[in-house]
Amino acid sequence: MACQIQSSSMAPTLVGPTRTAVCNHCGESFGIAADTFAPQLPIRCHTCGGTCQVKSPQTGGQLVTVVPLQDTQTLNRFDLVAFSAPSISSAGSWHVKRVWGQPGESLRIRDGEVWINGRLVQKSIDDYLRLSVPLTAYPDSSSAWQISTGDSAQDQRTLSWRFMKPAPVIPTDTDPQFWLEPSGIDDDYPCNQGLSYQLQPVPDFGIELELNERLSDRLTIETQFHHRPLTIVLRPEGWPVGDRGGSTALRLAAHDHCQIVCCDRRVLVRTDVEQYEQTWDATTLAEAAQINASSAQSTSGARSGFELSCTPAAPIKRLQLSRDLYVRTPTRTGNGDWSIQIPDEHYFVLGDNLPASIDSRGSLGLLKANRITGILQRP
Ligand SMILES: [Zn+2]
Repeated sequence: MACQIQSSSMAPTLVGPTRTAVCNHCGESFGIAADTFAPQLPIRCHTCGGTCQVKSPQTGGQLVTVVPLQDTQTLNRFDLVAFSAPSISSAGSWHVKRVWGQPGESLRIRDGEVWINGRLVQKSIDDYLRLSVPLTAYPDSSSAWQISTGDSAQDQRTLSWRFMKPAPVIPTDTDPQFWLEPSGIDDDYPCNQGLSYQLQPVPDFGIELELNERLSDRLTIETQFHHRPLTIVLRPEGWPVGDRGGSTALRLAAHDHCQIVCCDRRVLVRTDVEQYEQTWDATTLAEAAQINASSAQSTSGARSGFELSCTPAAPIKRLQLSRDLYVRTPTRTGNGDWSIQIPDEHYFVLGDNLPASIDSRGSLGLLKANRITGILQRP
């Protein structure tokens, strides 16, 4: 059965009704989640930092399909479930959340990260690809990419895409912490995580790359992860293992495709020739929040973006950038350090948009299995 999404507690994965904000200074227009719109607070333009007006009528939420649950069916971690919840809503309406904790598990949330039975939940490359939210693709949305090609065949070809930078605040008469920000997150799509106070940017992202032909020379991918530069160099033949670089320069063999996933404090790379995995010495969330807060008031921003260069110019068939599913916030009450033992036949569920979600951390409580109507299929 098909259902319409009515809130943005599952954004960026599922988007509820939106309205359009228009900047008074630069004219930029962008969508904001209707359910978190608070008219008494200024909305800050993500391009110039100026104040915005909310203009257009509300548009409807996304449509999704709910597949009824079979009697004996158990749920997997990360499944999206629709359920009734008399404690927080009227009869006949359903809620949608994501399963994080399963029956019998001990779950802890520390600084916005989920730990199960004492271990940080870390996704595999396949988990990430199943759950991630697409940001931009090349060539599908090639206008978003900057492309530069050298004059001779030996010159390199560069493709770059900028993650959104927090704009400087103008005017400065309001403390930035009281602004509603269309995005505190590292991409250029302000609508998809709703509107929240002091969002913690999610540094996690993924890159899928496909070439038209086999790599003949090197292909370099430069980006940042947790505010540290990350360089991945792909070549047709690998280096000897001992020649692998340090923590910021990974060198791998690839022929014509690769997947790079930076999530849950790890860097995972899978090419058609080899696989690589490294634990990333991440900046702590508290440090990252500080960096983000200071960059919000500078013109330089928190992220420089993403750049890919090939020597000689290699034909890129397709490049997909994506990011992890949820928004972290270390500032919300109950999300600092918090734990629970899950009894049998119950699940612990969270909204992907953690700052704006009513879920198992709060008044919803644990979800009893017999309340679950079905599993959601994303559009
Ligand atoms: Zn503006």
